[in-house]
Amino acid sequence: MELSFTRFRIYRECPWKYKLIFVDGRRIPLNPKSSFGSSLHRALERWLLSGDDCREALFDCLRSSWLSQGYPDERVEARWRAKAERALSRFHREESSRRARTIAVEKEFVWPLGPHTVRGKIDRIDQGPDGAYEIIDYKTGPGVPTPAQVAGDIQMRFYALGARRALGLRPAVLTMDAVVAGERVGASYDPSGEDALACEIRGAADGIEAGRFQPNAAYCRRCDFKDDCSNSAEKTRQSDET
Ligand code: SF4
Repeated sequence: MELSFTRFRIYRECPWKYKLIFVDGRRIPLNPKSSFGSSLHRALERWLLSGDDCREALFDCLRSSWLSQGYPDERVEARWRAKAERALSRFHREESSRRARTIAVEKEFVWPLGPHTVRGKIDRIDQGPDGAYEIIDYKTGPGVPTPAQVAGDIQMRFYALGARRALGLRPAVLTMDAVVAGERVGASYDPSGEDALACEIRGAADGIEAGRFQPNAAYCRRCDFKDDCSNSAEKTRQSDET
């Protein structure tokens, strides 16, 4: 079993959702939020890899990375695109004042976990003037996390674990870069929970391999399939109300 963070996250949210997507082949269509997020990630990746740090180069990367799918019409798409340009303008200003050195962009890692393989891709790894490694993840939603949320975030911890086990790095700081809000929030990395996380990843991989896809009713309200899943507690609740 090969487990990426996306697969692990979806199995954690609801094993039945995992089955719908990865066994039955159901797709979650793009919407403005997900399309916007993908475009920004792609633009940032291209720009950081290009080595050209000027603002125009960043905007060129946005133009070549922009996905038009997922928007109901051109006016809505234009609004999201203007939002992306504002976010990247701000990002560029702040980036110019950073003293850390970027040592990797979209860095892949792979490590063995019992009979399974764990893989992932880290948005960015920086190294500060003091030599400390910083794992950075770009967030394209409207909110700004607290340092405690960053420290406990399962995705950040999954990446930090991968950086240690596969890349031999000792991350000192986890940072979420809330690109739209223009804020970077960092937290010291505490590796003490790594064994527990590895155990949880192993449990998910074992469960998937054994075909354990029990529905998780607690997640239905937030689920993309809530209106047409045969196990949706949300659909049942709505029909009980009508
Ligand atoms: S609607 Fe509920 S049971 Fe169905 S996939 Fe989503 S979370 Fe799982």
